[in-house]
Amino acid sequence: MLLWNFKNFKRSEFECNCGCNILDYYENNYLYMVLYFLQPLREDINKPIHIISGIRCVKHNKAIGGSAYSYHTNNGTNFPFRPTAVDFKVYDLPQYFVADRIKENTNLNYCGYKMYIDKENYCQGHLDFRGYKARW
Ligand SMILES: [Zn+2]
Repeated sequence: MLLWNFKNFKRSEFECNCGCNILDYYENNYLYMVLYFLQPLREDINKPIHIISGIRCVKHNKAIGGSAYSYHTNNGTNFPFRPTAVDFKVYDLPQYFVADRIKENTNLNYCGYKMYIDKENYCQGHLDFRGYKARW
């Protein structure tokens, strides 16, 4: 049984930002995301990874303009891959450094990943476990 006992990530960081506690129902999805992807990446880059958005209930996803079949939500048929998405920021490294480290991480060949630069020129990423490699 997996528990929220990671060095750098707390359960509360992955909760739906509307406060609905939907994470209770999909806890294992996010435990595995941290275990296999986020904690290893955190140790690799050795800088804080700030979670901007984890799980989203359908209502909250809609409210913030997320796509209807977002991997942040449980809206869709391909459970257990959904919901697994996280959006994150790394403030302390040049954006392409993080992208390069992600390219080297073979676990991430099973993930969807998008890297983009936010308005303040920080590196922001989207990561989800969809069972196959997708980049956009
Ligand atoms: Zn919610």
